Amino acid sequence: MTTDLLAKNDRLAGELRARLHLDGIAACNLIGAPGAGKTTLLEHTIRRLSDVPITVVEGDQATDHDARRIAATGARVVQVNTGTGCHLDAAMVTRALSALKPEPGAVVLIENVGNLVCPALFDLGERAKAVIFPVTDGEDKPLKYPHIFRAAGLVILSKIDLLPNLDFALAEAIDNVAKINPDAAILQLSARSGQGMTDWYDWLRSQFAAARQSAFA
Ligand code: MG
Repeated sequence: MTTDLLAKNDRLAGELRARLHLDGIAACNLIGAPGAGKTTLLEHTIRRLSDVPITVVEGDQATDHDARRIAATGARVVQVNTGTGCHLDAAMVTRALSALKPEPGAVVLIENVGNLVCPALFDLGERAKAVIFPVTDGEDKPLKYPHIFRAAGLVILSKIDLLPNLDFALAEAIDNVAKINPDAAILQLSARSGQGMTDWYDWLRSQFAAARQSAFA
């Protein structure tokens, strides 16, 4: 990874963040390994928060499968295919938002390419990074992938409805998140069972309210 490439991305991300800030738009960069449940969480969120204008940027190396799932909820969505790339960058998100044209005060949910490594390096101009950490993974994920957990404002322990069938040590996992990032908010939820989803909706609404407040108050 060249320093030039990262510097260029940081500059574009800075411009994007300034524009989103002026428009009171809250962008959230959703990061997690393949199969963590990112798209499922988005589907439930869009259906439940029908009073919130949500637009979605979907990142995958190939296919428009996730964009089609999101489009079925009625939300506006753009699919970005990164080919051999392992992450979204600020230029891709800028182009996607030019097509989506989210209204002032909207929420933009960006589903990054399934990966816990590369997305840590690329600022997308988002208000917050949320890492999805499913309980079907090892408790030591935060220790193995510290950069992304350190950059996260929110860590979501997902699929908690499966806990009774797993040997996942929840307290140890939470402890590992806190070791790497003591400031991260931590939520436990299951999109499938609905457990804990209210906390996630509240967090998202607080981001949305703060972005509007700083732009329009
Ligand atoms: Mg997905």
